[in-house]
Amino acid sequence: MSSAANARRAELSANLAAVRARIEDACAAAGRDPSGVTLVVVTKTFPASDVALLSELGVRDVGENRDQEASAKKDELATVLEPMTLRWHCIGRLQTNKARSVAAWADAVHSVDSQRLVKALGTGLARVREGDRGRPPQPDRTLDALVQVSLDGDTSRGGAEIREVPELCEAAAATEGLLLRGVMAVAPLGVDPRQAFARLAEVAEDVRRDHPGANWISAGMSGDLEAAIPNGATHLRVGGAVLGNRPYVK
Ligand SMILES: *Cc1c(COP(=O)(O)O)cnc(C)c1O
Repeated sequence: MSSAANARRAELSANLAAVRARIEDACAAAGRDPSGVTLVVVTKTFPASDVALLSELGVRDVGENRDQEASAKKDELATVLEPMTLRWHCIGRLQTNKARSVAAWADAVHSVDSQRLVKALGTGLARVREGDRGRPPQPDRTLDALVQVSLDGDTSRGGAEIREVPELCEAAAATEGLLLRGVMAVAPLGVDPRQAFARLAEVAEDVRRDHPGANWISAGMSGDLEAAIPNGATHLRVGGAVLGNRPYVK
């Protein structure tokens, strides 16, 4: 390994240890078992080489928010990593015309926020199962689905309004191959994240009443994971605290 790669590996290793310590401290304070919290490392804008290093360092879940970037990275890693060592989470806002491609690379989609998207993911997944674009058929392939909730009702930033959540969950649960896992949210700007995530916990509880297996709560990022853990987060989406500052992209 080159010295640059070694240095990057050491940096990622130290950052990961620091994030894992934060998670353990927050779990201890909340009386939770850290094994109930999955760290999804958000690798968007960072190269496939970083994903490979993270995998060596024991990371099992990575998050991406752009379809083209994610599928290119996964293809690039196909010869380096054993297939299936990583679970790929699509965490970004998704247009329906990307659903077919996302269904081919993602294991989980955290950003389900419209009926049209549920439908498009179902159709995309059906194609992947049959063998899309010359790829071998994958008849057993499934896609974990989380309904993204807009906690301030400003859906221009992604997420569905809280009142739409039951119907979206119903639609996802009824779609062949989609496995409804729970809910996701980003804390709105300018709001105490603890209050935001407490609201999300209530929404999650309502969802579980109709769908007892939908027990994932995707909440908490680099800056606010300590607010998410006492509110039941099962999946943290952490980018900068592990990988460093991202180059600014819109
Ligand atoms: C980029 C992103 C993250 C990670 O944010 P950091 O502040 O870098 O930890 C989490 N969730 C979503 C939806 C994102 O787009």
